[in-house]
Amino acid sequence: MTQSIRKKTPAGGPAANGVVDVLVPVALDHTYSYRVPRGTELRPGDVVCVPLGAREVTAVVWAENPDPDPRLHNRLKDIGGRIDVPALREELKSFVDWVANYTLSARGMVLRMTLRMGEHLGPERVRLGVRLVGPPPARMTAARHRVIAALSDRLLHGKSDAAKEAGVSVGVVDGLVDAGTLAVEVLPKPPAPPAPDPDFAPADFSPDQAKAAAILGGMAARGDFQVALLDGVTGSGKTEAYFEAVAEAVKRGRQVLILMPEIALTGQFLDRFAARFGVRPIEWHSELTPRTRARNWMQIASGEAHVVVGARSALFLPFADLGLIVMDEEHDQAYKQGDGVHYHARDMAVVRAHIARIPIVLASGTPSVESEVNARKGRYLRVPLPSRFGGQHMPQIEAIDLRREGPPRGRFISPVLAEAVRDAVERGEQALLFLNRRGYAPLTLCRACGHRFACNICDAWLVDHRFRQRLVCHHCGFSIPRPHQCPHCGAEESLAAVGPGVERLQEEAAHLFPDARTMVLSSDLITSIETMRSELNEIAEGRVDIIIGTQLVAKGHNFPRLNLVGVVDADLGLSNGDPRAAERTFQLLNQVIGRAGREQGRGVGFLQTHQPEHPVMKALVACDREAFYDNEIDLRERALYPPFGRLASLIVSAGDRPTAEGFARKLASLAPHDARVQVLGPAEAPLAVIKGRYRFRLLVKSARAVDLSGYVRDWLAGAPKTKGNLKLEVDIDPQSFL
Ligand code: ADP
Ligand code: ZN
Repeated sequence: MTQSIRKKTPAGGPAANGVVDVLVPVALDHTYSYRVPRGTELRPGDVVCVPLGAREVTAVVWAENPDPDPRLHNRLKDIGGRIDVPALREELKSFVDWVANYTLSARGMVLRMTLRMGEHLGPERVRLGVRLVGPPPARMTAARHRVIAALSDRLLHGKSDAAKEAGVSVGVVDGLVDAGTLAVEVLPKPPAPPAPDPDFAPADFSPDQAKAAAILGGMAARGDFQVALLDGVTGSGKTEAYFEAVAEAVKRGRQVLILMPEIALTGQFLDRFAARFGVRPIEWHSELTPRTRARNWMQIASGEAHVVVGARSALFLPFADLGLIVMDEEHDQAYKQGDGVHYHARDMAVVRAHIARIPIVLASGTPSVESEVNARKGRYLRVPLPSRFGGQHMPQIEAIDLRREGPPRGRFISPVLAEAVRDAVERGEQALLFLNRRGYAPLTLCRACGHRFACNICDAWLVDHRFRQRLVCHHCGFSIPRPHQCPHCGAEESLAAVGPGVERLQEEAAHLFPDARTMVLSSDLITSIETMRSELNEIAEGRVDIIIGTQLVAKGHNFPRLNLVGVVDADLGLSNGDPRAAERTFQLLNQVIGRAGREQGRGVGFLQTHQPEHPVMKALVACDREAFYDNEIDLRERALYPPFGRLASLIVSAGDRPTAEGFARKLASLAPHDARVQVLGPAEAPLAVIKGRYRFRLLVKSARAVDLSGYVRDWLAGAPKTKGNLKLEVDIDPQSFL
């Protein structure tokens, strides 16, 4: 735009206060220009509503536009109005831009994660209450009686609460209002959450802990960008140590975000936090009610919320003054979001801390190889906690060689493990049998004709779920009732379950240990966070002898009487062609065995394996963490795998195979030449069909110095757009290769 054009007042000059560019939380990367109505002042970051097509949508002013194209000016629409919530800060806007650019996602989709706050965007709605003020109505019913009884204290009750208490519909309450028996009043706004008290109950630190806590506290007090890797085995007291950093940030009036991989498991954590700081933190995860979400969002944006504990999505919240990020179990896979915006919350948390110039603490007993390398190179400050708090020993680990000491045919618990479990239960201790497989059996086949039950629309076997009496596809949820007859050959009583799942293990445990109380913990048997928390409490209180669980039990919970962990199939995660298979197996098994012996006695872990000579098993048995990392880092460095190189996945899918394959080949042929970048594939994905969609993968591999996001963006800019049924997903830093 040239000066001369800009100075000209557009014909029929509108009564506008300039033009702003607005980012809308939909799948678009670019902003739209809108006119600012006279009398309205808007700045970047302001939350507004704007007309978009036929709808009114919530959006955010991204930039002032001092140079709007005058020819467009008359055709621009007006901003609908400013929404009365705090403006997004510049640092959050930069973060949204950064994440979108890095992950190749539409900026609008990233913005959406910061605005996704529940029932509506805006100040909390006024809530109405009722109070008993007048005489009973002329016409009385049993329901009306109950309402009057419930309100007999003549205090103000929430309207829906009053109805619930009396067991009637809101209509009954309204009827009493109309009759003059009850009066409606506005409920006072709920008070701001009380501030955590940094001096409420400081811990008595062990010398190691005191050292770690002083370093972390110092970081939080300085408040500059720095990454610490709080590196200590399970039970070493990492939580108490990072609470010191939280206390320092709170003392300075700044907000803290604590990220957890599995928010369902944080019941105990909330209590621990309250024991240390006197109040519970604010929670953020998908299971909150819309009203709670809306309230928490506002409190976070206004600065009334002091400490927030959340799942990965909490990273995008509009904190008023974030002063510290803590990420617990930083190595956990759950931090990677695998659909929509593909991002890894650990990496993005470090980016957010960098942009906001605040410290971040990554905590783990088995750091990701990425973080371990960063610590070894000095980019992250390693803060070690070398031993368990209170002098508890790490569990002693033994391998059981399934080739020589395996269980009888059709069984999965070896005699050595069974003996150990029996002893533990007799001593009044708990035992955990760990198997990372939901359901009863991963495969059902017909002994007469060999027919195997597979999903209709995925390239996967159906998993037998006996509790639910169905065969289920774990990829799309397709299921059929458990058949009694082979649909292929018609044979009866011919179907056989192949391989174990946790449900089958429970059957075996019930048979081997008839007097023990067993409980299965598996995500598909848990209906809500509440049931999950209550089952975990039951275990913690010792009302269960043998826990049979999937990886759900590996995380975040303390079972004081658990001293024995048996890993039923230690090889399970090793053979899936994933470059991180060894790392994941090491982390998972370490973590699950680390559940044992945390409070009394010596923990013991058993690994049932076909390959006791595998480096992962050897490192676990020898308790030699360094050996594992040395070996793994060496392999990655030689193969130029992350963090020594970069990876990106392109996944092409379509309703039919030739379309998907054709497009994937076309893409591959258009990849720009760059000597530092290797494009592998296309290859049919290991999960070749999901939900009826045929999938092909391209893997892009580059040296670390390459801007791989930029490379892929340039590549796709020159490629045909996906049309119709074709879909292309880009995953920068992929964690899954299925
Ligand atoms: P980690 O997070 O490293 O697995 P935790 O922080 O959960 O370890 O600590 C392990 C156990 O030790 C917990 O039961 C915790 O309450 C206890 N603990 C840790 N530090 C202290 C301390 N300074 N004083 C008393 N108990 C502590
Ligand atoms: Zn399926």
